[in-house]
Amino acid sequence: MDIEAIRKDFPILDTKVYGKRLVYLDNGATTQKPTAVLEALDHYYKTYNSNVHRGVHLLSQQATDAFEAARTKVAAFINAKHTYEVIFTKGTTDGINLIASCFGRGFLKAGDSILISAMEHHSNIVPWQMICEEKGATVKVIPMNEDGVLQMDQLPALLDDTVKLVACTYVSNSLGTVNPVREIIKQAHSKGIPVLLDGAQAVQHIPVDVQELDVDFLVFSSHKLYGPTGVGILYGKEEWLNKLPPYQGGGDMIKTVTFAKTTYNDLPFKFEAGTPDMSGAVGLAAAIDYVTAIGLDNIQKEEQALLAYALEQLTAIEGLRLVGKSPERSGVISFLYKNTHPFDVGELLDKQGIAVRTGHHCCQPVMDFLGIPGTARASFAFYNTKEEVDILVAALKKAAAMLD
Ligand SMILES: *Cc1c(COP(=O)(O)O)cnc(C)c1O
Repeated sequence: MDIEAIRKDFPILDTKVYGKRLVYLDNGATTQKPTAVLEALDHYYKTYNSNVHRGVHLLSQQATDAFEAARTKVAAFINAKHTYEVIFTKGTTDGINLIASCFGRGFLKAGDSILISAMEHHSNIVPWQMICEEKGATVKVIPMNEDGVLQMDQLPALLDDTVKLVACTYVSNSLGTVNPVREIIKQAHSKGIPVLLDGAQAVQHIPVDVQELDVDFLVFSSHKLYGPTGVGILYGKEEWLNKLPPYQGGGDMIKTVTFAKTTYNDLPFKFEAGTPDMSGAVGLAAAIDYVTAIGLDNIQKEEQALLAYALEQLTAIEGLRLVGKSPERSGVISFLYKNTHPFDVGELLDKQGIAVRTGHHCCQPVMDFLGIPGTARASFAFYNTKEEVDILVAALKKAAAMLD
């Protein structure tokens, strides 16, 4: 993999912050966009911007074709059996809210429960709490240990008759843990329970095949996969999507409307009320083309090597404490320096041109469990280099000297 050539595809990587070349290690929050994506957006708006699925005119046809081609591209990317199992959303949060609302309305009753994990992002906790409160159901949690590894031995007992759905993250955005999702899906399915995977930190790092995983729902965000913001994907198995009631009502999701009764459209349109993010879908398709051309296998190999190097270098810094020690990991490294606040480390790194994130990373229960206010988090993409890890290490040493 020619990283230097790849970096040239990302114009923002040349940006200077405080006079230093940007070292962007906040890819877990959002990734940067290659020129191919920026050009696809530009081309869309300059040449065929128009509303989809409605107009008879040529531009509307072109926009509709591009939008549906994007859907087909996403379906191939995650190996969905049918293109109509791919629903465009606003992002991961939107996709989880959609399933929580629809599944809750269709299938949850008092006494039922939803099983999530101890390392979920708030967006895979709060929507379930909201619908459970409404239905008199409860949210149960698969616990984790101090290393940030799920306590799988507890899963069989947790999967009791009350559980109607398991919602779990594939990769933790705060700890980097890659969860044993195949085992979770297998055990849930053996009891007839469907599984939703939060793929927000997975699809950009690991080849994801929904048929091979046999997962019932998968959600992710374009903007963490080198695509534009404002668009995301919900994959659902056809049988489930057909069983679920629609989420939002409006244009495009209907077949017929009278004041007396409305009949709903077929998949995927049943779940896509209103004008979708057309340019976003086109941009996401360009992003998928881009990563597919490099190959997710190659990306995974390169990133794993970089992660191993970074872990080795960071472990050697005296007083630096890694948070999250799962042997199976991807993407992110969370850390603390002695007893200092993560924000202070983050600020000192920022002044040296290094972008990391600090705080609870939308995972307050994880921080509460570990008894820490938050972490500083370096999160990697395939365009990051060993040289950037070295810059991070040198900057951390400098920050440490100032904080001591
Ligand atoms: C970023 C993230 C989300 C939320 O994604 P949005 O794009 O903000 O909707 C959910 N889960 C995980 C694991 C994430 O990293």
